[in-house]
Amino acid sequence: MRVVPQHWRVEALWCSTSGHVTPADQVATLRPQDGSLGINHKDDSRLCRCLRCDDWINLSNPTEPESEFLPEPDDLPTPERGKALEEIVVIRGIAVIRGLHCIFFSLAVIAIIIFEWGLPGLRDEAQSLVESAGAIADGSRPGNSLLVSGLEKISSLDAGEALKLLALALGYAILEGIEAVYLWRGKRWAEYLTVIAVAALLPLTVHALIEKVTVFRILGLAIELAILIYLVWTKRLFGARGGTSAYEREMAADTNWEQLHRVAPIQRPTAPESDHPD
Ligand SMILES: [Zn+2]
Repeated sequence: MRVVPQHWRVEALWCSTSGHVTPADQVATLRPQDGSLGINHKDDSRLCRCLRCDDWINLSNPTEPESEFLPEPDDLPTPERGKALEEIVVIRGIAVIRGLHCIFFSLAVIAIIIFEWGLPGLRDEAQSLVESAGAIADGSRPGNSLLVSGLEKISSLDAGEALKLLALALGYAILEGIEAVYLWRGKRWAEYLTVIAVAALLPLTVHALIEKVTVFRILGLAIELAILIYLVWTKRLFGARGGTSAYEREMAADTNWEQLHRVAPIQRPTAPESDHPD
């Protein structure tokens, strides 16, 4: 499933924020056989190929090189590129959504605590915060209808009901927080957790839509379903499309490191002017 248009170079976008991967700028001496990774340019600079985006960068010779020569091909860096990198971008996008949800549910937890057990002087402020939280919760994850209805009638809840509401908001905050952190870190189990959480909340989502159809609920449901389908289909979870082993084969076939380390896939530039900041 391709989510980035063909003409976009996700590798270039990634390098522009994370920096290039240029092993040739870490060694004292470039040998003739290193021509696919680095070329001596002037006395004090060399052209170094980035192993992620394949651009040639004009860099000053290292003042403190890490080694005399480039390592063997098996020990060269293997940064994500192509399909693997596109998937990281999407998964991190999902992680950001989950992170925003986590912040919101954490605020809801604080608002409930202040409203129910905080200082009386802060009750009015807490109530307006709780009401805002209810409105946001309605659209942020469609299975939230229990939380939404609880927040709307918080002033009439007894202590036991308020405690249940607090536990629900806290549970959501922890779940979304775990999803956010471990999706960002690329953990496959977090993808399973996300799918299970979305699927488990689907009955509540349908219930919420039967209760009341709103644009935000429909949009929320569409986003959650898109996340679920993307994860199961693209990451081949739960044995889909051959499962984990087929996914690993697909990733390995997409990036031939032996070839990439040996041959520069684009034409070498002809001695550009220095463009590297000192
Ligand atoms: Zn690069």
